[in-house]
This record gives sequence, structure tokens and C-alpha cells, in this order.
Amino acid sequence: MDPRRGESDRNTCINPVTLYGEFTLTSNRKVRCSVNLTERDLVVQRLTSAPVRRNKVVLSLRDCVGCRAYREDANTDPAAYLAAYFYPLKRRWMSSGVSRQRLEQCFRLAALQDPRANLEEAEKWARAVQERSARQQHLGHGLLMSELSCPCRMMLLVNPQSGKGQALTLYNNHVQRMLNEAGIIHTLVITERQNHAREMVREADLSQWDALVIMSGDGLLYEVINGLLERSDWEEAILTPLGILPGGSGNALAASVHHYSGASPVSSEELLVSCGFLLCKGLVSRMDLVSIHLSGSPRLFSFLSLAWGFVADVDVESEKYRHVGAARFTVGTLVRLASLRVYKGKLAYLPAAEDPKKEEGVSNNATVHCNNQASSPTQVSLLCRPSRDSSCRNTFHNSCHSNNSLKVRRSDNTPSRSATKALPGPPGTLLLPLDQPPPGDWVSVQEEDFVLMLAMYQSHLAEDLLAAPDAAPDDGVIHLFYVRAGISRTALLRLFLAMEKGAHLATNCQHLVHTKVRALRLEPYSPKGVITVDGEVVEYGPVQAEVHRGLARLISG
Ligand code: ADP
Ligand code: MG
Repeated sequence: MDPRRGESDRNTCINPVTLYGEFTLTSNRKVRCSVNLTERDLVVQRLTSAPVRRNKVVLSLRDCVGCRAYREDANTDPAAYLAAYFYPLKRRWMSSGVSRQRLEQCFRLAALQDPRANLEEAEKWARAVQERSARQQHLGHGLLMSELSCPCRMMLLVNPQSGKGQALTLYNNHVQRMLNEAGIIHTLVITERQNHAREMVREADLSQWDALVIMSGDGLLYEVINGLLERSDWEEAILTPLGILPGGSGNALAASVHHYSGASPVSSEELLVSCGFLLCKGLVSRMDLVSIHLSGSPRLFSFLSLAWGFVADVDVESEKYRHVGAARFTVGTLVRLASLRVYKGKLAYLPAAEDPKKEEGVSNNATVHCNNQASSPTQVSLLCRPSRDSSCRNTFHNSCHSNNSLKVRRSDNTPSRSATKALPGPPGTLLLPLDQPPPGDWVSVQEEDFVLMLAMYQSHLAEDLLAAPDAAPDDGVIHLFYVRAGISRTALLRLFLAMEKGAHLATNCQHLVHTKVRALRLEPYSPKGVITVDGEVVEYGPVQAEVHRGLARLISG
């Protein structure tokens, strides 16, 4: 018996051939290929008598964003065509890193004289490729979805002014094609001014949309999240899946989403392609939000960061270097280092439990249900939502919400006295009004002289600053960093350089403190200064924050 036979049988069992066909390449009709569609891969082999180097290509269905069947010339050509779109990770030219690169496989099916029969065959293949690539993705998360739904509809908000002012060009060059390949119907909305998106989202009929996608920096998503939470139906509105495509200079959430997918760091257009790919794959996970309480303004919601001192000053001062794109923070950091100063204030926080399962607030094992057929601890597929019509959309939201009730256990220290209870948005549970001392189980930081305070709830502070390497979007944790006064310029620069690889905590800098908290309060002493939330300037003065675990939905990998 041929020993290779056993091996091939074993492979067939694990990875059975499910469809087989012989087609020609659209680009060169002289080249005939055998095409195998297995549960995991599309295997294309050139049928030639002469030996050809690399005549077999194996494309993982995990890298496939879409597949379509079509006819080209209805009158003269009976053939049908099949196009499948892949974005596999490939080694970059002249570099050790990898990034996603587009690869289109296009076949001509002309086995029959009847054009309709050819098209039906191509459509059968397209459906099979789409179903299997969706299944592959869910298998990766221990979840098998058996049904694909109709295309989903996205509102894509683009800020033409963000970053170098290239968001629209980037949309035209990369995003539009990718979304079309994935069969995603999207409506482009170009913002006209600051707060335009916030107002629009506050008033929008959200039943029209399966997702809101932001193509800008972090500032536009900040507007959208606050717009959603200002609605009277905020509980349902905030469950709308949110997507992010980097189009600004501060693309921290986009870099974080890429980081969560496990891929090695990329920047600029490679980051855009990666985020576009993840968006097309459409996996939705929970995302923590943090409510920000200021003494003289309404409560705000934040998805990324709260900063004071060095980082906040760089945020604001680097606005004028916006034209250099993501490098604006590097330039701003160097400029601010030259005039390094001390910021005085009082900092207190509520430590996070060592074991996150013991955290109070939203139940840790709450699930997001897409429909009755499937559930996952943290993720569902946007592609697998029940239907396009709004009644089904509501079913999705209601079922999500019923599993997401805020199970708040009150203790003596979790006050019902929050001043913000009557406003839209979730009730606060951890904070006392700013004119009272923090609850007794909070930790007060002894020092009053700081160089910076930075609270982070995503991994990245900027495209190339991995500030909280082990942050997860839904861990219910605020990563609180502060740097005590007395640090030298060189040591601070070393910290920021190490942060590019997320290695700053390993530098054992005596001035840097990192702790995981659920709530915090900062009372700056100086009458003037800068506080930023998600990179946007907010009212300066006493501020406190608390995390709302898994409150929003994020399309991520
Ligand atoms: P960047 O990363 O380049 O800072 P952001 O998305 O953070 O990009 O946007 C910067 C600011 O521009 C934010 O405050 C946002 O609210 C605001 N904004 C949004 N749309 C517009 C527009 N059309 N014109 C001017 N500013 C806008
Ligand atoms: Mg910004």
C-alpha cells in the first residue's frame, strides 16, 4: 500500500474537498486551472504539461473578504465569471514585517453553451466561498454560524479635514473597493464641521444602519459615541456596531484594533488595509466606555484616554504639526521635552480587582446573542445578523440588551448619589460628587508633583505608541499611568521611545507608575492647564472617571 495514501486520506478527512471545477483564468484564457474549494482553502492549480514553478496556490478562506459571480457580455459570450477577493498577510518588500496585500482570483466558467447555466454554476461557487469563509472565521472563535445574511448597510462618516486632509483620497483608493468586494452597502457621509457627526448621529434613524463606521482620527469617533449616548434611546443606540478606519493623525483606536487582531505592527496605508479587512470580516465585540465627569460641563463618554500634563500638552501643541500625519506626536513630544515642567495636583483611584471575574458592574460572562442559533462570550459576526429589515435588527438589539443589563451590586461605597443619574447614558455607580471626598476604599496617591497622568482603555495612544500592551477592549479596566516629578528629560524620552514597542514598563523607570483601576479622580491645583479626552480638549479643572464595562460594540478582529 502506498504510504502517502494514508496521509492524503487523513488530510481529506480534516480538510475535505467540497467543490471541484476546471476553469480558465480571466486574465489569460490559455491558462486552465483546477480549482478545489475545501472547508478551509481555495486551492488553484495550473493544468500544464510542462513543469511550472509554483503552479499551485493555496488561499486561506480566512483571508477572503468576498466573492461574486457575474457575466461580462450578455450577447456574445456565454461564459460566466467568478471573482474572489483575498487579503493575505505577505512579507513586505525589503523588510522583515508582514502586512495584508490584496489578491484577486478571477476565473472564467464556460463549460456549457447555456449562459444561464454557466452563471448558475458561478453563483453556486460564489455562495460556497462566502459561506465557508464566514464559517472559517467563526471556527477561529469557537463558533459556527450556519447562515449568512444579506449584505449589511454601513454609514461611513469621513472627516475630510483629519490628518493630512487625505481621508477622502484614502477612501477612494482603498476603502470603496474593499467594501464593494465584501458586498457591504455603504453610504458615505462627509462631515462639514466639528460636531456635525455628533448632531447627525443624535438624530439619525438608526434602524437604517447595521453599523456606523468612522474614517478619521479618534476625534470623530468621540463625537459619534457622545452623540449616541445623548439620545433618549441611548441604551439601544449604543449597541450599534462601530467601526474605525484610520484617516487622521491620531489613529489610536485603529492601531489598537489591528493590535488586538494579533498582527505585527504596521502604519499608514497598511494599517488602513488591515482595518478595512477587519471591518469587512465584521466580527463585533464589546468595548468599554469611560464616563468623564467635570465640575461645570455635562458628563462625557470616552473610548480611549484621559490625559493631563505632558501627554495632554503634546496632544494640543501638536495640532499645528497635523500636516505631518501620525508623526505629529513625535514632533510634539520632542518640542515639549525641551520645556519639560511639573504639574501639581491630587490623584485618587479605585483599584481594579486582581481577578477580573470578581469585578462588579456588568456581568463578566454576559453574552452577545446574534440570534437564537449562536452565541459567543464576546463576539458575533455582523455578517450573520438575522436580516436586513429593521424588525430583525431590533431583535438583535433587544436580545443583546437583555443580556447586557447592568447588574450593579451596591455596596456602601458604590453610591446611589451620583449627580448624573437622570441624564441619558448609564447611571454612575462608583463616583461621589466632586465636592465630596472620594469613597473610603479609594487609594490616594501620596505625591502631588507629576509630569503626566494618563488613563488608557485601549492598547494604543497613537499609531506608534503601544501604551497599554495588555489592554483588551472589554476588560473593564482603566490602565492608569503617572510619571512622578524628578524624571530627567533623557529618561522621559527613553520611556516614549520604549513605548513604540510597548516596552516602557520593562524599563524599570522609578518615576513611572502603572496600575489598573475602575475609577479615578484628578484635582489639578493650577488654575490653567489642559485636559484631553480621546485627544480632544475638555473643560480644565477637577475631573473624575469610571469605566462602564462592554457598553459599546466595536467591529474588530
Ligand atoms: P485627527 O486625528 O487628525 O485629529 P480627528 O478625527 O481627531 O482627526 O478630527 C479632528 C477634529 O476635527 C475633531 O475635533 C473633529 O471633531 C473635528 N471635525 C470633524 N469633522 C470636521 C470637519 N468637516 N471640519 C473640521 N473639523 C472637523
Ligand atoms: Mg484627533
